[in-house]
Parts: sequence; structure tokens; C-alpha cells
Amino acid sequence: MPYAYDDQNVFAKILRGEIPCRKVLETEHSLAFEDIGAQAPVHVLVIPKGAYVNFDHFGAEASDAEIIDLTRAIAAVCKQTGVSPGDGGDGHRVITNTGRAGVQEVQHMHVHVLGGRILGPMLPARA
Ligand code: AMP
Repeated sequence: MPYAYDDQNVFAKILRGEIPCRKVLETEHSLAFEDIGAQAPVHVLVIPKGAYVNFDHFGAEASDAEIIDLTRAIAAVCKQTGVSPGDGGDGHRVITNTGRAGVQEVQHMHVHVLGGRILGPMLPARA
């Protein structure tokens, strides 16, 4: 099934400047900003500027330049926020939630960068 991108999602509005964000960095193809509901001392969202619904859409259809740019932007966010082990930081977790099973709330591809505390198990225990 083709991906249907809804340009009224909140991150599309941030990209168009219709609502504000706390920008961390911006590159040619990507934007990083603080998550409004931070779950850790460092909680940054990194998004492509292109209209991609989720990670598999991005991985399948984004250009090499966009994919490289987003990956480099994530590394730059880790360095800038002090969580990169290669730069003396204590580490981090990079998460992307996709679709219903992944409990994705915002339908614009995004990567969470979390750190600044010990983050615990990757998933909560099964109920
Ligand atoms: P996900 O469940 O992976 O789709 O996560 C969406 C994330 O977007 C959540 O962590 C929200 O706190 C975050 N979020 C929603 N609206 C905004 C906003 N206006 N600015 C920054 N982060 C937001």
C-alpha cells in the first residue's frame, strides 16, 4: 500500500514555521528540536524535511543525500547534547516508532534521541 502523507501533522507545521519549536540544529535536509514531552534530560527529535510518514517509508524512498544527512544530524545532536560516548558522553538511545504496533503518534518520520540518565530496559515488561 502506498504511503499517504498528511501535511497537517504537527511536524509538518513546525517545518513550515506555523508553530514554534526549540531548535537544536538544522541541516540541508533535516531538523532537530526538543521533544515537548521530554522523557529524559536529553530528548531531541530529528526529522527529515521531506514528506515521509515513517521510517520504512523514509528508508525506501528518501534519497541517499537525505538518509546520510539525517544520520549525520543524529550524530551531531548526540555530540551537541553531550551524550556521545565517542566524545566523553555517557551514551544514549535512538528510537523510531512506526505505525500502530510501534505506537507512532505523529505521522511524520522522526527519530527520538534520548539520554542524560540511565534509560532502563528497552521495553516495559509485558502486562
Ligand atoms: P511518537 O510516539 O514516536 O510519534 O512521538 C511523538 C513525539 O512528538 C512525542 O514524544 C511528543 O511529545 C512529541 N511532540 C508532539 N508535539 C510536539 C511539538 N509541538 N513539539 C515538540 N515535540 C512534540
